[in-house]
Amino acid sequence: MHHCIVIGGGLIGMLTARELAAEGIRVTLLEQGRVGRESSWAGGGIISPLYPWRYDSSVTALAKWGQQHYPQLATSLRKEGKIDPEYTKSGLLILEPEDIEDAIDWGRQTKQSIVTLGKPGINDCEPALTTASSQAIWLPEVAQIRNPRLTKAAYQAIKNRVQIRENTTVSGFEVKAGRLQGIRVDSSVLPADQAVVCAGAWTGKLLKNFVTRPTIEPVLGQMILFRAQPGQISRIVLHEDRYVIPRRDGRVLVGSTLEHRGFDKSTTEQAKQTLQAYALARFHSLREAVVEHHWAGLRPGSPSGIPYIGQVPEVEGLYLNSGHFRNGVVLGPASARLISDIILGRSPILPPEPYALNSPR
Ligand SMILES: Cc1cc2nc3c(=O)[nH]c(=O)nc-3n(C[C@H](O)[C@H](O)[C@H](O)COP(=O)(O)OP(=O)(O)OC[C@H]3O[C@@H](n4cnc5c(N)ncnc54)[C@H](O)[C@@H]3O)c2cc1C
Repeated sequence: MHHCIVIGGGLIGMLTARELAAEGIRVTLLEQGRVGRESSWAGGGIISPLYPWRYDSSVTALAKWGQQHYPQLATSLRKEGKIDPEYTKSGLLILEPEDIEDAIDWGRQTKQSIVTLGKPGINDCEPALTTASSQAIWLPEVAQIRNPRLTKAAYQAIKNRVQIRENTTVSGFEVKAGRLQGIRVDSSVLPADQAVVCAGAWTGKLLKNFVTRPTIEPVLGQMILFRAQPGQISRIVLHEDRYVIPRRDGRVLVGSTLEHRGFDKSTTEQAKQTLQAYALARFHSLREAVVEHHWAGLRPGSPSGIPYIGQVPEVEGLYLNSGHFRNGVVLGPASARLISDIILGRSPILPPEPYALNSPR
């Protein structure tokens, strides 16, 4: 294989393009808007699923690989892209999970560092917390990364090795005798015999005419950002499915909502107030801080959050790397490596079967 087209310039598309280009493949990346401006820009950057023990082992396997490789990826991107994505091991403190025994079992089985804390331990772990929680799970190894910096660094790292065409919308595929022949772009066709769809929340729409198609739907998430003082909060704190993420410069993200309203990306005053009240109830020190920003992104929602990584069964040469739902940042590096292994016929980093398009989810 000499040439591969990557459709979609989010984190998944950029990491996939980077993997393929590193093997000497000529890569063209097509992006309908600007690269790295959708879900990959909007996310929180926690390098772990929320409540990680609640996921299928196929998600855990991708996450674990990503967690092991992120320090090196962040260093490489900083060197290649000249932007520091701020990989920071701030740990994940999960307050009052209802299934604490399951969490402990999972930690034992997957050999993840996991500690149960009572009230004094919680206070020591995050002194800025002002709620009186009696039980928590502490995952000290969990890190975070700053999404807008990560996507910028990824873009900088690939821009001289990959042909990037922004404002280019793919509308369909030319297929003959079960083989990919080309990619439809506006009114023309780009000849192609290999392509990977990394179109995030838009993937289901793009593949809607295929017999075997992925179930991927946009799931909106709103976030707010406080401008606070550096060091005021130091841990990622998760409680009742919402979280607070402190950045190095003192900014604090609070997320997120889970909304099903198609491709509408508008923010609402109600979500802003809910997220703000959530944060202020747990961190009184944020009462002094202003909400600097409020935004929304479309997650590529898939059943059980298991991404689709593999070939579209009815079309030779057409591959998918989509549907990472709430975990595209943590799953992205393994997922990009795995799809590249499949395309290039290399020995895969993980058994690919659970991620196949026709695998039950
Ligand atoms: C609020 C929020 C918080 C999150 N927090 C976390 C977290 O803490 N940790 C974590 O791991 N994950 C998190 N996520 C999830 C993560 O952000 C996503 O899973 C991930 O960004 C998906 O990456 P992607 O590249 O598939 O999608 P995207 O970043 O959306 O990229 C897809 C790209 O494809 C382009 N495209 C679509 N259709 C076409 C077409 N027809 N032609 C050309 N281009 C096309 C789009 O314009 C877009 O740029 C969060 C998401 C949100 C919204």
